[in-house]
Amino acid sequence: MNAILLRGGTVLDGTGAPGGTADVLVRGTTVERVGPALAAPEGATVVDVTGRYVLPGLIDVHSHDDVAVLRAGGTEPKVRQGVTTEIVGNCGHGCAPSAPDGYLAGYSAPVLGAFPDTCWPTFPDYLDEIAAAGRDLHVAALVPHGPLRTAVLGPRRRPATSAEMPRIAGLLDDALAAGAAGLSVGLMYAPGNAATRDELHALGRVLARHGKPLVAHLRSEGDAIEESLAEVVDVARGTGCPLHVSHLKVVSPRNAGRMPALLDILDAHRADGVDVTADAYPYPAGSTTVSALFPAWTVDRGVAGLLDALRAPDTRRRVLAELRRPWPDLENNFLALGPERIRLTGFARPELDGHTLAELAGDADPAECLADLVLAERAGLSVILFQSDERDLRAALSWPWTMIGSDGLPVAGGAVHPRLYGTFPRVLARYAGRLPGLSFAQAVHRMTGLPARRFGLTGRGTLVPGAAADVTILDPERLADTATFDDPRRFPTGVTGTLLDGRPGSDRTGQLLRVPRRAH
Ligand SMILES: [Zn+2]
Repeated sequence: MNAILLRGGTVLDGTGAPGGTADVLVRGTTVERVGPALAAPEGATVVDVTGRYVLPGLIDVHSHDDVAVLRAGGTEPKVRQGVTTEIVGNCGHGCAPSAPDGYLAGYSAPVLGAFPDTCWPTFPDYLDEIAAAGRDLHVAALVPHGPLRTAVLGPRRRPATSAEMPRIAGLLDDALAAGAAGLSVGLMYAPGNAATRDELHALGRVLARHGKPLVAHLRSEGDAIEESLAEVVDVARGTGCPLHVSHLKVVSPRNAGRMPALLDILDAHRADGVDVTADAYPYPAGSTTVSALFPAWTVDRGVAGLLDALRAPDTRRRVLAELRRPWPDLENNFLALGPERIRLTGFARPELDGHTLAELAGDADPAECLADLVLAERAGLSVILFQSDERDLRAALSWPWTMIGSDGLPVAGGAVHPRLYGTFPRVLARYAGRLPGLSFAQAVHRMTGLPARRFGLTGRGTLVPGAAADVTILDPERLADTATFDDPRRFPTGVTGTLLDGRPGSDRTGQLLRVPRRAH
């Protein structure tokens, strides 16, 4: 069995304990010993890591690499950050179960990248394909709510009937039994935003039986964020399932400063027995599909419906009028942010890419301009929304139950949000050690031990004897994210190596991490 001795580094073991100088002996696929001055077994490869930090492999709990993990080289932006495990299937977006006629792909391609619409009749089929692909990372998968309910309701955004709800719950049960890590809902997005309380509770009961979390992109992260949080807390309380809030943030300038009050609410729920955690990415801008800027009804039949609505004069007038006034339940980001804070990316014509809507519109009306661009690009655009306040971001990162998730959108072209390339080094280099509750060791814990425990990745996330030998090695002097909003596709510096199940570089083979049923 091959052995590797990492000699003389500063080991941060992922538990949140402060680092100390130690050697790490890896034998085969596992960590055999961690301690001072370990003897090298015969034939071991000895690597001097003096001056380096040695951590458990980083876990990206909020990945949209659902399709990228199947492609050779598709996860390089994560590998280069020191990530060894990703949790895909977030925000209710996903590619399985497949739906016909591009219904899912049309809506979710600006989030996941392009994908075929016939490959995976069931979610377990998709899990099998990840297992067979064996790419550069380990993968755990949440069941995305959108495709799951589409498999039962067809390509329509509408509430499920009482006869349909048990069928959706049954598909969830099958997927969790096959090893899915939980369920993600995107209550801001079509078609998941048509789900009623009854549907969410039916799904919560299945999650509770499996001891796996409801992972929620809240219905509103703006004016109605407290009500939206209450909606998913109600599911957790009513069913007993664990709850995880995705990309914890507060959006729109007029809501700046609300995060500390939201954290007080979360703390009160925890004190009251609700098992709630969160993830966050370290940037005050977000990114999503352009369709999410439009009223929910426009995508009742998917993006084909949105394009029809923008083409016909009557419905186009109605859409533009709604863009210019607040909406009762969802946040109207177009109105709340204004055209200067919305950047558009993913254009077929590169000269348009990465500009703000204000720049693209010039003297024209921004809503008219947006409608024309969406028609011209067949809704295939992503948006970067400069929507949050740096102080709220810092508060979210300071909360002890906030894990780190990139939320990176692995789309092929254009000026993507730099979080795809920079999230983990950015947290460690710019925030760790500078915020209350976020020492360097705690930041590492929020990327390793905490998410492994939360999502049932047993035997990973800590560097202790017997753990899987997923290891990330950093040079703290050189560690920096270099991706920016103007030049986002830049790899970080200072991530000097990783081991995946004890194997370096091109030797690596990622696994599908099937999560067993858990006591909760
Ligand atoms: Zn989301």
